[in-house]
Amino acid sequence: MAFLFRCPECRTRRRDYGLFTQHLRETGHKVCICGGYHYKHRPGSPFCVANPMSPALLASRYGASGSEVAEIALEISIAAPSPATKKRRAMACPF
Ligand SMILES: [Zn+2]
Ligand SMILES: [Zn+2]
Repeated sequence: MAFLFRCPECRTRRRDYGLFTQHLRETGHKVCICGGYHYKHRPGSPFCVANPMSPALLASRYGASGSEVAEIALEISIAAPSPATKKRRAMACPF
């Protein structure tokens, strides 16, 4: 079975990696390779670290109850009012 590379932006598939990267160059589609998924994905996908709610979703994936997940989500929304703010703060921090 051939491995297919799927673009997370437009969801089209490419048969090999060369064609896939060519597609990304031509269309400007972006993929993210953070640890949230074991494959390349769209930045901001539910489990992506670019998504501020990813810790809550990860907790739910690892078996946390609904109220625990809601609690984590609440903590996140208090700590990081918006993804933009979070990003700026992260960039200002040298560590
Ligand atoms: Zn695409
Ligand atoms: Zn990601």
